[in-house]
Amino acid sequence: MSRGITILGATGSVGQSTLDLIGRAPNDWHVHAVTANSDAAGLAAIARACNAELAVVGDDDAYQDLKAALAGSGIAVASGKAALVEAAERPADIVMSAIVGAAGLAPTLAAVRRGAVIALANKESLVCAGDIVTAAARQSGARLLPVDSEHNAIYQIFDHDHPERVARVILTASGGPFRKASVEAMRVATPGQACNHPVWSMGAKISVDSATLMNKGLELIEAHHLFPVNADQLGVIVHPQSVVHSFVEYIDGSVLAQLGTPDMRTPIAYTLAHPERMATPCKRLSLAEVGKLEFEEPDLERFPALALAWDALRAGGAMPTALNAANEVAVAAFLAGEIGFLDIAALVRDVLDALDGGVMTTLDDVMAVDTAARRAATQRLKTLVPA
Ligand code: NAD
Ligand code: MG
Repeated sequence: MSRGITILGATGSVGQSTLDLIGRAPNDWHVHAVTANSDAAGLAAIARACNAELAVVGDDDAYQDLKAALAGSGIAVASGKAALVEAAERPADIVMSAIVGAAGLAPTLAAVRRGAVIALANKESLVCAGDIVTAAARQSGARLLPVDSEHNAIYQIFDHDHPERVARVILTASGGPFRKASVEAMRVATPGQACNHPVWSMGAKISVDSATLMNKGLELIEAHHLFPVNADQLGVIVHPQSVVHSFVEYIDGSVLAQLGTPDMRTPIAYTLAHPERMATPCKRLSLAEVGKLEFEEPDLERFPALALAWDALRAGGAMPTALNAANEVAVAAFLAGEIGFLDIAALVRDVLDALDGGVMTTLDDVMAVDTAARRAATQRLKTLVPA
């Protein structure tokens, strides 16, 4: 019997890797819906190739193009934020949540609320509204299976039945393209250099986050929501080879790790096949070929974004939501050539410094903080952008 899947963010890097895997066993899968932001042509090609029931673009301006591209195909088309949520509400067994940014929150939450299995790549939804998403999952029985390679590794080695046996969880970080760069070099770094990741090929936003190490900071917050560990039990170690995907240290001193070649199709396959395993075409790990595994402490001075995220995790409340929102604004401005690389963390810090807390019980609370932080970041931007 085939399994039903919906892929949110199908045109992206994680979306494409997911499609690659299910395309290798098309009889095993039935695609309910595929979504994208505005790439109508790309999404239409995907929808036809995987024989989806529904294709949705978030951007209403792309609707006519999508409709034209899928005319006569029998594939339903829709657009807008509500349609993204409706796509997630379709009764697929599993939803691949691979939209980038807080834009993924509403559809992810919709899938969580109906009790689906969620393959969760969209870490920003946990950073921005982790308590709400995990409470909804407990209530509905939805299972959150992490796609992020570090969290997927932890998921595989964590003693879920005995969390009290876990002392610490240590996330590995590649260190990004500026691992050895001077502050002066980072000051003048271009988007092209920031997106030129030494190990992983990913979407632009997460590539910049990897260069600032904000990605690792977001991942600390993500880990706190996925596993019962607090800020003091979380650690980060830079590991340039990106072969060890994370560590779990037990109270007796045992340290378990999960390893593999850096290919997102491995953690994605884990989520798709869970609780079974499926074969993938990923290159097998040869430790002899890798030769040596290196580890070093992260440099919080050169990479202040990681420290900011750690502080936000400790502070809790509105801080992680604001951190994420300000970072999204800053990264978009950097990618647009409006601000420098070092301005990203500086801008996030300014927004957090000016934040006056707030209760975070409902989704409306979260959205209010998200909106306010975006507004504050945009205001601050204007003072940075040369006129
Ligand atoms: P990407 O930029 O390649 O793709 C993003 C997808 O989201 C695209 O399909 C795009 O059309 C869609 N999208 C963007 N903005 C949208 C909006 N406002 N409304 C609706 N759809 C929108 O990104 P990616 O690298 O595939 O990353 C996706 C998510 O997975 C991110 O949260 C990222 O942090 C996480 N992740 C990615 C990787 C990776 O290797 N790429 C690894 C770990 C985690
Ligand atoms: Mg990761």
